[in-house]
Amino acid sequence: MQVWKFGGTSVGKPERMKSIRNLVIEDKTRKIVVLSALSGTTNSLLEIGEAIKQNESDQAHAVITKLKAHYQAFIEELYTTAEGKAKGQKIIKKEFDFIGSLVNISPFTLKQDKELVAQGELLSTQIFSAYMEEAGDNVVLIPALDFMRIDADNEPELATIEEKLNNLLSQQSDKQIIVTQGFICRNPRGEVDNLKRGGSDYTASLIGGATRSEEIQIWTDIDGMHNNDPRIVKRTFPVRELSFEEAAELAYFGAKILHPSTITPAKMRGVPVRLKNTMEPNAPGTLITSNVKNVNEITAIAAKDNITAIYIHSTRMLNAYGFLRRVFEVFEKYKTPVDMITTSEVSVAVTIDNPENLDLITEELSQFADLEPHDYNQSIICIVGNFMADKAGIAKNVIDALIDIPVRMIAYGASEHNMSILVDTKDKSKALEALNEGLFKF
Ligand code: ADP
Ligand code: ASP
Ligand code: MG
Repeated sequence: MQVWKFGGTSVGKPERMKSIRNLVIEDKTRKIVVLSALSGTTNSLLEIGEAIKQNESDQAHAVITKLKAHYQAFIEELYTTAEGKAKGQKIIKKEFDFIGSLVNISPFTLKQDKELVAQGELLSTQIFSAYMEEAGDNVVLIPALDFMRIDADNEPELATIEEKLNNLLSQQSDKQIIVTQGFICRNPRGEVDNLKRGGSDYTASLIGGATRSEEIQIWTDIDGMHNNDPRIVKRTFPVRELSFEEAAELAYFGAKILHPSTITPAKMRGVPVRLKNTMEPNAPGTLITSNVKNVNEITAIAAKDNITAIYIHSTRMLNAYGFLRRVFEVFEKYKTPVDMITTSEVSVAVTIDNPENLDLITEELSQFADLEPHDYNQSIICIVGNFMADKAGIAKNVIDALIDIPVRMIAYGASEHNMSILVDTKDKSKALEALNEGLFKF
């Protein structure tokens, strides 16, 4: 069994959907196909939700009408038979009737907003499986809402997912292709919820782990993980092999090709993850495993924005024990993960990416420490590789490359795989380019 996930651009046009069907049936392995929404759909659904919240029902209807027309044209081009087209139009009518019914609901709650945003994956998977059925393929659609669960902390309930999914699969043992939705799930109240933006990758990995798949393939619009952010840096190249640790760091620190949590379930069960390009299916892509053959000193760089830096001074000596515990208890209390930490004798600086409880955190820290003003709009640049503790020169190369960039924080040494640098977001692009030129051979 394998899990193949196709992202928004891979299903975004009828001809792309046709070519992913070819890919899926050409390879004879039994597989679970996880689909995202068609590209642009999730954004449109969020826009509709926003308009409803603002009581702008005309605007909501305008976006709905445009989106519906897009799907109607999609269906006409995708299916070949009158029967197929009729079935496709029926799917669209049902889902868009539901979307339309949300417009005048007041108050429009978070629960309804989540139901609305789930429509993208519900549409793409129904359209795709009906298309495969039209072609006579041995396919079945298993709804993710029947097995994908998160707990009150938004963490996946691994045991429940495993039990429910394997149960559903055993009822479909004669099916070669199992289609399901990425991104969407149910929360402890049984309501429709999701795994956050880009969450279909995470779905694929959770499924791959739960079914002990032989491989998880993430199909997207680029030939694997690049050594640097291709949206920002001019000369980037695909990295052919990554360890789970390297890939997890890159995903967590901003490499958009993977949802930040994707690697964890795969690593837990030792399932390899392969990143592939739908537009170039024969390109090797990137293979992520626990035993990388060619180890690089510097593998890749990623960057994460919207970081806040908090500077905390102990009113006594920092190494008076208990101070750091008190600091971290505050972050724990407000369920706010800390990304970077640096210390001096009397001060500690930390970064967070979720400012939701920042005011409360600030107030509570101020009760036992002096705070300097926070730095907002910061970016963490994460350099990933294999930094052997006894190897000289790596830090020098990084610092040399950043000679013209004001650096706020540096964290190095906690792991052999990561060096993190904090810069103002306005300096991020320049820093990524400079590191690219300074650290990689072209
Ligand atoms: P999908 O819709 O298939 O999930 P995404 O847009 O989420 O695709 O992810 C693929 C995109 O990630 C690429 O088009 C690329 O612009 C971006 N990206 C950012 N950093 C990297 C990186 N280091 N390597 C490859 N792609 C990256
Ligand atoms: N459709 C969702 C999003 O746009 C999930 C995904 O594409 O992975 O965020
Ligand atoms: Mg994505």
